Amino acid sequence: MKRRDLIKGLPLFPLMGSITGGLLSPGLLFAAQKTPRPDTPDYFEELGVTRVINAAATMTYLSGSLMLPEVLEALTATAHDFANMHELQDKAGAKIAEMLHCEAAMVTSGAACALVLGTAAAITGTDENKRKQIPNLPGPRPEVIMQKKHRYVFDQAITTTGAKIVEVENAEEMEKAINERTVMTLFFNAAVSWYGGKDSIGHEEFIAISKRHNIPSFIDAAADVPPVENLFKYQKMGFDLVTFSGGKMIRGPQSAGLLFGRKDLIEAAKLNHSPHEAPIGRPMKVNKEEIFGMYAALKAYLERDHKKEWQDWLNRISSIRNIIEDVPGLTTQVHVPAGPANVLPALDVFWEEDKIKISPKEIYEKLKSGQPSIMTSLATRNDKEILNVGVALLKPEQVNIVANRIKEILQTA
Ligand SMILES: *Cc1c(COP(=O)(O)O)cnc(C)c1O
Repeated sequence: MKRRDLIKGLPLFPLMGSITGGLLSPGLLFAAQKTPRPDTPDYFEELGVTRVINAAATMTYLSGSLMLPEVLEALTATAHDFANMHELQDKAGAKIAEMLHCEAAMVTSGAACALVLGTAAAITGTDENKRKQIPNLPGPRPEVIMQKKHRYVFDQAITTTGAKIVEVENAEEMEKAINERTVMTLFFNAAVSWYGGKDSIGHEEFIAISKRHNIPSFIDAAADVPPVENLFKYQKMGFDLVTFSGGKMIRGPQSAGLLFGRKDLIEAAKLNHSPHEAPIGRPMKVNKEEIFGMYAALKAYLERDHKKEWQDWLNRISSIRNIIEDVPGLTTQVHVPAGPANVLPALDVFWEEDKIKISPKEIYEKLKSGQPSIMTSLATRNDKEILNVGVALLKPEQVNIVANRIKEILQTA
């Protein structure tokens, strides 16, 4: 490749390599760019990385979700010019806040980063000294209140700031736990999805107690679209800070997320973030293209026909059912999680194991290690392990591939 070609192609083609054979034909993605050059390398192949068919969910270890064509266009279209990152974050944030009907917003490097920055903002406000010192502030540790039932793997993002988590089990305990060290309260929205059962303190009461003591309340709703309405719900309820992942069903860059809510807190969160050199958020940089990409993703997500998309997922499920259902001993059922997290229709597949001699775990492993590699999920229904096949993250042409592979494995079991 000539050096001139290399430079000319740089912003576009490394990205394109990673999606060729990917979600859409490059011709469609880059309508203005015409067809890809025939010598575009296949980077998956070059590094020996397996392409995975995702019939599971938006999991970070499976690279989240696939960016929408609009997002890929935004990434490449904005890669050719410099911008002042303060100005970009401010202007993208202002526009996002307008779109989400809240005071202020910013793009973070994912919801986990938003948890760090929101907590840091609650600790430091605009105090420059504190910004320089966290996570090692002098004196007793700042405290963040959570329901005991809401403790989860991502709350390490809270303690990363030096804060300590104080657990409460009911409204009375929450009232009592608030003291001069309390900086924030955190509500894990999907605790009921993850653990079952009810929250010990409901949303409204949680907000009311926080407000009564003038403590900012933060809700983690990272995986909680669809439905799209959730993007507006929690700020309206009265939470001071809200986060959603950008790289789940909003289908923005995998390393982007949204933090939005009260203006003073968002301003303080920005002070704790890149491009400032020192603060805790400096290693959680979001690049220029990702900020534009996150904005483009949100815009596309809000404009999408969500009913049609849901119907399209149901149609995919019907296609899979049509292919596999004539295997004797097999039963299928559409399953939609109650939410609020991962509310996507999927297909439960179960069978009489004396007729079809394979366990759900074995078929899961076979699909995973097969050619092509297909990731499904194992779920529990009525105390029994079953195979769960997701459809929302499939490319259209993968629907039948997944169905035929499942059928083939079941028939030869
Ligand atoms: C996925 C997830 C996160 C982390 O989100 P990223 O955008 O990957 O940083 C945090 N909290 C919950 C509840 C999640 O589901």
